Amino acid sequence: MYETEIENIASKGSNEEIYYSLLEFTKNMMQQKGRIEGKKKLYYISAEFLIGKLLSNNLINLGIYEQVADALKAHGKNISDIEEIENEPSLGNGGLGRLAACFLDSIATLGLNGDGIGINYHLGLFKQEFEKNLQKEVKNPWITDRSWLRRTDVGYEIIFGELRLKSVMYEIDVTGYDNKCNTLKLFDIDTTDENIVQEGSIWFDKNDIRKNLTLFLYPDDSDYQGQLLRIYQQYFMVSNAAQLIIDEALAKGSSLHDLYDYAVVQINDTHPTMVIPELIRLLVKRGIDMNEAIDIVSKMCAYTNHTILSEALEKWPIWYLEKVVPQLIPIIKMLDVKVKERYNNPKLAIIDNENRVHMAHIDIHYGCSVNGVAALHTDILKASELKDFYDIYPHKFNNKTNGITFRRWLLYCNHELSDFITSKIGDGYKKDATQLEKLMQFASDSDTLNALLDIKDKKKKEFKDYIFAKEGITLDENSIFDVQVKRLHEYKRQQMNALYIIYKYLDIKAGNKPKRPITMIFGAKAAPAYTIAKDIIHLILCLSEVIKNDADVNPYLKVVMLENYNVSYAEKVIPATDISEQISLASKEASGTSNMKFMLNGAVTLGTDDGANVEIHEFVGDDNIYIFGESSNQVIEHYAKSDYSPEKIYDEDKDIAKLVDFIISKELFAVGNKKSLIRLYMEIVTKDWFMALLDLKDYIRVKEITLADYEDRQKWAGKMLVNIAKAGFFSSDRTIAQYNEDIWKL
Ligand SMILES: *Cc1c(COP(=O)(O)O)cnc(C)c1O
Repeated sequence: MYETEIENIASKGSNEEIYYSLLEFTKNMMQQKGRIEGKKKLYYISAEFLIGKLLSNNLINLGIYEQVADALKAHGKNISDIEEIENEPSLGNGGLGRLAACFLDSIATLGLNGDGIGINYHLGLFKQEFEKNLQKEVKNPWITDRSWLRRTDVGYEIIFGELRLKSVMYEIDVTGYDNKCNTLKLFDIDTTDENIVQEGSIWFDKNDIRKNLTLFLYPDDSDYQGQLLRIYQQYFMVSNAAQLIIDEALAKGSSLHDLYDYAVVQINDTHPTMVIPELIRLLVKRGIDMNEAIDIVSKMCAYTNHTILSEALEKWPIWYLEKVVPQLIPIIKMLDVKVKERYNNPKLAIIDNENRVHMAHIDIHYGCSVNGVAALHTDILKASELKDFYDIYPHKFNNKTNGITFRRWLLYCNHELSDFITSKIGDGYKKDATQLEKLMQFASDSDTLNALLDIKDKKKKEFKDYIFAKEGITLDENSIFDVQVKRLHEYKRQQMNALYIIYKYLDIKAGNKPKRPITMIFGAKAAPAYTIAKDIIHLILCLSEVIKNDADVNPYLKVVMLENYNVSYAEKVIPATDISEQISLASKEASGTSNMKFMLNGAVTLGTDDGANVEIHEFVGDDNIYIFGESSNQVIEHYAKSDYSPEKIYDEDKDIAKLVDFIISKELFAVGNKKSLIRLYMEIVTKDWFMALLDLKDYIRVKEITLADYEDRQKWAGKMLVNIAKAGFFSSDRTIAQYNEDIWKL
């Protein structure tokens, strides 16, 4: 099928012509496939959808990727060069947004009737550049005239007090793997004006809502105007969603009294929480009694918690909401009164005694389900963070360990590996990921193990070429690729990894040369207003420069910070990775998903028993993962007793002090910003809120063992194989099947 069309496209002249022809061809094919339908529909509402480039993914799901790639090859073209034309949409920030994207893929693949709902941010998240070893943020326009976006004639009136805006809905088709399509619906306004953002920066007038509403994902909220803008965005997203949900249900014959038979809403983190009062408001406006409206909405909304970091749990001063969405205030106040009538516990209140609205509390009281994103995370929610809620609503709590789509994170990004797996166990694993277990029969087969090593070498060479072409950085493919790529946050402890680098640098200076060179690769964006995170990036970039310029050390150690880490970069670096760094402070990483991507691609995890690492550990066993550091229980106890003192460690342990002191050494001052380095040094010595010094020694110890073990190549390949074979559980197809079984019931 489609031979002539594909051949026609492949024979076109420029890469650009080919790309745009493929875009139209693929969009048409998806239209022809038809929609997934059903009486009840899931609305997955999320502030972020980190979807990545779509061409190859869509071709794979349509089952014509090979055919297109071969046709292009016959004309001397490479599909990855063609895909370079496509901009990566920057509609997400990190794991939470990527999860939403993986979920859309799996929802369609399982043939479930479910759409994503979000915002069409014109400039997305900022683009990261490095200048003088510092992060600089610039705008990242990604929308072009011809793209996956399809403008519809659906639009709603969105009311912010006096301000009334008309929205417009865009759609991106989401095709399932060997299945029909759902859509990602992104709302926008026509008056958004990218020209109000200064060139080479992300600065704009935060007051001009007509022009700025859909400019950026997570606009700077370090001031009051920025916080209001976030509320404008959130209400814009959910008011559109609520109106759409009601319209679609009415069109299918709902009386609205039975709305929950037509719609279920998954609230991805607290950003879409206002959908609850908004739906109630709209139902009441259409004549439904208030108590019944609350009951209807409570039956159809489900909440996913993504973090126990209290600063990330949204609490808005009520007068902020009064300013932006006055029409919701009476409803929110009533929801609060009902809670207070029932429970005499201030920790359960929606509006606290400082007049702040706890968004998560709305979700928990007035939703039907609360889920954490990994077993440990859900246990912590039940036992401590949300214990008071668990005590009154035990039936609402459930776990849904995150997953990743194997289409993008194996079939697309590592077809060498997926072809090899197919040659060994057939391709049943593509639809049923648990079949990867069949690989275990080759656990000590040396041909299989050598093949895995060869594939890893090939992907390392590919990455070497890619990063050289992109950033002019030279890598040694014979070195060990040790990779930590994820948003920059103190709890993820990139600073602890940086302290390891200092350890290694000083050790090499002292004459202890590693058997094999090590390449430490980082990729991370820091939130623009998060000073310490930016200081950590600065430290890593400075270390990179110092080491590069030190002839004693540079043959053995290299530090690379990828510029503007995003999905496309992840697809390249993950298959090339030997060691996956998952070193968050135990109890703080809700799940993690890069840990799963790495595992699936045959990297071995070096990590703490945190998030989904715990489950990875259980699946692969002690011999196939490197675990270090204090347990989540120990860490929780340190917080409870407030007995952790980095100063004490620093004073009592000369080895550690030496590493920390290097942050303010003359070597680093020579290439870096003194103020930033001193600030970071002080933070670690006096606060170290995420306890990098607590686990540093054990981290160094276990990392040295990991690096040494790498030298027994056969044994290492055995670990790679076990990781791949046990990755099946982490397919988002499994996660989504569980959401549907327990919550959505489509
Ligand atoms: C998977 C992914 C993440 C999440 O990484 P974690 O290590 O789980 O935090 C972040 N960013 C991108 C681009 C990803 O693909």
